[in-house]
Amino acid sequence: MTAQIIDGNALSKQLRTEVATRAQALQAQGITPGLAVVLVGDNPASQVYVRNKVKACEDSGLHSVLEKYEASMTEADLLARVEALNNDPAIHGILVQLPLPAHIDAQKVIEAISPAKDVDGFHIASAGALMTGMPGFWPCTPYGCMKMLESIGYDLRGKHAVVIGRSNIVGKPMALMLLQKNATVTICHSGTKDLKAMTLQADVIVAAVGKRNVLTADMVKPGAVVLDVGMNRNDEGKLCGDVDFDGVKQVASHITPVPGGVGPMTITMLLVNTLEAAERASK
Ligand code: NAP
Repeated sequence: MTAQIIDGNALSKQLRTEVATRAQALQAQGITPGLAVVLVGDNPASQVYVRNKVKACEDSGLHSVLEKYEASMTEADLLARVEALNNDPAIHGILVQLPLPAHIDAQKVIEAISPAKDVDGFHIASAGALMTGMPGFWPCTPYGCMKMLESIGYDLRGKHAVVIGRSNIVGKPMALMLLQKNATVTICHSGTKDLKAMTLQADVIVAAVGKRNVLTADMVKPGAVVLDVGMNRNDEGKLCGDVDFDGVKQVASHITPVPGGVGPMTITMLLVNTLEAAERASK
């Protein structure tokens, strides 16, 4: 078997067209969905991420503001900026790019964002909403994974999903989303004794670890769907995921590549959340 590739670029393009159409409908009511991206310091990776996010907004007809500050910015000043953005009617979504400099308490800053504008879905109120099935904002990366499963018409009811990784931004919310769609969910982590025994039972595997070749072909049940969230570098310095793509694609029914898989979906879901925030604010 050679797995069908779930193309994150193609799916993103389709979803971003839908975002642009919905943004136009809001604009007809005089509302332009707006995202504020706040960057503190000069982390090179963060600079690339924020640039991509701002460009994606512009391409889809969303208004975006990039606020850049020196690494020496105080926590109090950052909290004051967040509060000003909370009160700015032109801004519907606020994203503070992580990591923040060590002297700033990132959790405190995230909790300062109004839950109504928490388009990253990292606020405790958003996490609670996801856990209880209430309306809120879902973290973009696992939300993108759910859209990828939806795009292949995959019915999770009664399926066994194994999530490798339990971070607050990917693994845990991923598990809750799969659970909400009636999958039976197993969460694995660095303390899991026999990862292969777990993954071999899985109909769906989401790898969100940050280590190359965490998932190899011998660990995958034939026909399983494999989503690769990981972002790593191989020996040649090229971007790769957590999954041994060449091996696993011979066993899986569907697989996401790296690059061109989950990565583009993450930014797309940020646009979706920002649009959703603007639509909710307009009602
Ligand atoms: P993280 O916070 O470092 O979490 C990694 C998780 O993997 C932890 O729960 C850890 O377990 C677990 N783990 C580590 N080694 C393991 C092993 N050998 N077997 C099983 N589990 C193991 O990372 P993250 O923020 O969730 O990100 C995960 C990866 O996704 C990274 O490569 C990151 O760059 C990537 N990512 C990609 C996107 C995207 O847009 N494509 C977005 C976000 C993240 P413990 O909890 O026990 O330590």
